[in-house]
Amino acid sequence: MQTNYDIQKGQLIDIKQINKHIFHLKIQSSDFEKMEYIPGFTLNIFLGDYTIFPDLETRKYSIWNYEPIHQIIDVAICTFSKGKGANWVRTLKNDDIIYFEPPKGKLLADDSADYYYLIGDVTSLSHLYEINRNLSLHKKVFSFIYAYNQRDIFPDLDGSFPFDHYIINPLVPEVVKQKISVLEPQIDGNGIAYILGEPKTVVVLYDYFKNEKNWDTKKLKAKPFWK
Ligand SMILES: Cc1cc2nc3c(=O)[nH]c(=O)nc-3n(C[C@H](O)[C@H](O)[C@H](O)COP(=O)(O)OP(=O)(O)OC[C@H]3O[C@@H](n4cnc5c(N)ncnc54)[C@H](O)[C@@H]3O)c2cc1C
Repeated sequence: MQTNYDIQKGQLIDIKQINKHIFHLKIQSSDFEKMEYIPGFTLNIFLGDYTIFPDLETRKYSIWNYEPIHQIIDVAICTFSKGKGANWVRTLKNDDIIYFEPPKGKLLADDSADYYYLIGDVTSLSHLYEINRNLSLHKKVFSFIYAYNQRDIFPDLDGSFPFDHYIINPLVPEVVKQKISVLEPQIDGNGIAYILGEPKTVVVLYDYFKNEKNWDTKKLKAKPFWK
């Protein structure tokens, strides 16, 4: 349970539905000035007015971009789940006040490797875009975004589609693994793999990197995005 002291707030300055299942939010907050931002941070948002309902549930959303001059962050919220967070985002309007815990994170951009695997589903796409934009330009990236439907894939904030996408419907984690093992190039040097998104796929891919490719688990930044 948080104390009041830990809770920050911001104003929803823009909200757009960018495709059938994704809302793009821009949140402005002077509280962001206190943050020592590292790409890969997430925002744990209260699903409503914390001042009236302090026991409200929270949901974690990745910071898609942080613009420090005007203290504005972007997030992309998916509605595939039809759960509480998905229902909450549909109620929001411009100028609403959003309550959240101080941003932080574990799946941070780490520029220390020679090459990267960026693997995830549509829910983790904004997170992977932010990591990708914050790697040095010369780093080699193998990307694999799996989706149920082509129209669910949304571009990065500059309109670009820097990742390779694969439509896998129904989603079978073993199929994702097989496709990756066929497509992945042989790259020399040290790698880091970000493996995010659908829980069963994350587990299968984590085991693949650890047991079949013999990767050191310190190089695996793996996280199921829901339960
Ligand atoms: C580090 C981290 C970063 C995250 N970043 C983002 C983000 O940027 N954007 C975002 O939308 N979410 C993100 N999430 C997931 C988010 O926190 C919620 O768990 C998710 O959106 C579902 O919440 P909900 O309340 O809508 O559904 P819930 O009520 O939690 O779940 C309802 C049902 O839907 C299923 N479900 C949940 N999510 C999905 C999904 N995406 N696709 C299909 N089925 C699902 C659940 O298994 C459950 O059965 C992140 C999670 C983590 C751990």
